Amino acid sequence: MNAELTSGRKTNTVHTDRAEPPYLSFRQFLTERFGERVHRIALDGGFTCPNVDGTVTTGGCVYCDNRSFSPNRRLPRRSIREQIEHGMDVLRSRYGSKKFLAYFQAGTNTHGTVEKLRRLYDEALSYRDIVGLMIGTRPDCLPEPILELISSYVRRCWVCLEIGLQTSHDRSLRWMNRGHDAACFVDAVQRCRGRGFDLCVHVILGLPGESHADMMATAETCASLGLDAIKIHNLHVVRDTPLEAMFRRGEVTIMSLDEYVRLACDFVERLPPSMVIHRLSGDAPGDYLVAPEWCRNKSALLREIEKEFRRRGTRQGSRFREQSAPVFHRTALPIVD
Ligand code: SF4
Repeated sequence: MNAELTSGRKTNTVHTDRAEPPYLSFRQFLTERFGERVHRIALDGGFTCPNVDGTVTTGGCVYCDNRSFSPNRRLPRRSIREQIEHGMDVLRSRYGSKKFLAYFQAGTNTHGTVEKLRRLYDEALSYRDIVGLMIGTRPDCLPEPILELISSYVRRCWVCLEIGLQTSHDRSLRWMNRGHDAACFVDAVQRCRGRGFDLCVHVILGLPGESHADMMATAETCASLGLDAIKIHNLHVVRDTPLEAMFRRGEVTIMSLDEYVRLACDFVERLPPSMVIHRLSGDAPGDYLVAPEWCRNKSALLREIEKEFRRRGTRQGSRFREQSAPVFHRTALPIVD
């Protein structure tokens, strides 16, 4: 089918083979950008994390299974070249894919010297069929020389930098041991502006102690920062994490599917229509997920979200309010002490 995608920044014709959801999905964006389906190849560059190796702190975020990021164990099992070739083989045979994105996902993928990062990124981009570079990182791990390196790739391909915010509330960031505050994220976004690469933010809905108003405040912050894309996760529990221990002790409750569906719609309604929604659910390998069970069926979750939008007669941006400056709600009270 053909459809017009209208946003604050652009109007484009998109050709897709299925009905479009009431939000700007990553799939739609990629089809528009590259003229065909493009798949990500998740890569492990052997990065540790400043929140684990002591650069910022140790212990990592409460929801992260970061044992594999400990510095003395941090060697990727296979080279980038092997990972790319294996990923392309699998995706070609499974989906007939022709174009791919190199997605540096594991750990903090800017936590290294410029020389190391250049070598890894260059290796990934040495394949003609790799048409984009995605890099996941933290807001406190983006010094100027690394931002210059990342922006140097925009001449070669589409580049997207993913930065974890999780919530705009410092009390929740402290609870989850993120090791940075919300102002650090806003600063990173401002330093990334105008460099030619896309910026994607990660957020988590359903954090303990966060009210509906708190989560909508996070939506407003994200909506006001001129970001290109967002990944929205429901809080989910992964095996062998501090969060699992809290969950098993009954200190943390996890949202029901219905609660999350309503919340996700409320959140997405407040985002600009032009912001690409890379993800709308938590993601954990089957064996590692502890809760919630409904998280396992992503297609069913997305169908429920679309159904809720249809029931309301709304879509992404229905409640978006343009702001002339970043909206930044400061919360002072500690959530758990
Ligand atoms: S979630 Fe990200 S920032 Fe937090 S410990 Fe894991 S890799 Fe580090």
